[in-house]
Amino acid sequence: MKTAVVTGGAGFLGSHLTDRLLAEGYRVVGVDNFITGNPANLDHLKKEPRFDFVEQDVTKFIDIPGDVNLVFNFASPASPIDYLELPIQTLKVGSLGTHNALGLAKAKNSGFLLASTSECYGDPLVHPQTEEYWGNVNPIGPRGVYDEAKRFAEAITMAYHRYHKVDTKIVRIFNTYGPRMRLKDGRVVPAFIGEALKNEPISVFGDGSQTRSFCYVSDLIDGIYKLSQGDFHEPVNIGNPTELTIKEFAERIIRLTGSKSKLTFQPLPTDDPKQRRPDITRAWQRLGWKPVVDLETGLTQTIEWFKSRV
Ligand code: NAD
Ligand code: UDP
Repeated sequence: MKTAVVTGGAGFLGSHLTDRLLAEGYRVVGVDNFITGNPANLDHLKKEPRFDFVEQDVTKFIDIPGDVNLVFNFASPASPIDYLELPIQTLKVGSLGTHNALGLAKAKNSGFLLASTSECYGDPLVHPQTEEYWGNVNPIGPRGVYDEAKRFAEAITMAYHRYHKVDTKIVRIFNTYGPRMRLKDGRVVPAFIGEALKNEPISVFGDGSQTRSFCYVSDLIDGIYKLSQGDFHEPVNIGNPTELTIKEFAERIIRLTGSKSKLTFQPLPTDDPKQRRPDITRAWQRLGWKPVVDLETGLTQTIEWFKSRV
């Protein structure tokens, strides 16, 4: 049986990835310190004999006994309010944590997959974003702690690939949503759904003209799984190219929840990207992957999940 290690395994994406790996026949070891994760995301695996969990901070040496075939490096605060509250931890997990996870992969002669991000493109001047674009990041702005940690993580991943010949993969994840997001993690999907379900004002930042493109979690995990099984080592965008403004997104949430909420406009956070849409040509050509869940279907399932949690 193959063994996968998932750092950040108690998080939103890490827990869904764990479920997929178990379904594919892997034994999975989750590693997490719960800094932004939730033990409840793994409650359903308590009796799963192929799942083990290690509570630890991955910026400290990671010791996993026995064989390991794949290391998935997902540990990192991911929501803007999380990484603004945890700037040093975010820089440390992206740099020291990624270094440790790469060291584990090298020691075990294992594959390695880095969860990188569309934030590597910063406030992009190229639209839609292709993997060839180097980005437009403010290194000293408040978001720099996340963006630069992830850019460092990509650089050290490529260095381990080129110098140590580790079989590495890099996924650049675009805004992904679904069940198990924290209601109060500050990201736009749980924020708007929570406000709409409580009939409270919907907090649109700026004038709402900035755009995003939202991918349902099952599509994202499918793309990541396919990438992990292949032999392509350069970054691959995984996301849904359906782009809409944040104001349109707020109106969509109001309609789908049947809410009485009205929009309120609040200051735009510093360096908030004005536009974001993945070019997924590479994912299609290299992995035969494209998303299959449309926004309406994904949001309906996500709203259902949040209904019992507001
Ligand atoms: P999340 O906050 O739900 O999960 C991150 C997990 O990492 C949490 O369980 C947290 O406790 C854990 N963690 C953080 N620092 C740690 C440390 N030092 N040691 C051990 N565990 C630690 O966020 P998510 O949305 O599931 O994001 C997972 C990964 O995907 C992150 O690396 C994030 O940067 C990346 N990503 C996510 C998105 C998205 O839209 N969800 C977009 C781009 C990139
Ligand atoms: N946003 C918003 N209201 C909120 C939370 C976010 O208008 O309560 C906006 C935010 O300014 C950004 C977009 O929604 O333009 C997506 O924000 P999120 O925090 O989900 O992720 P980002 O794509 O910025 O990393």
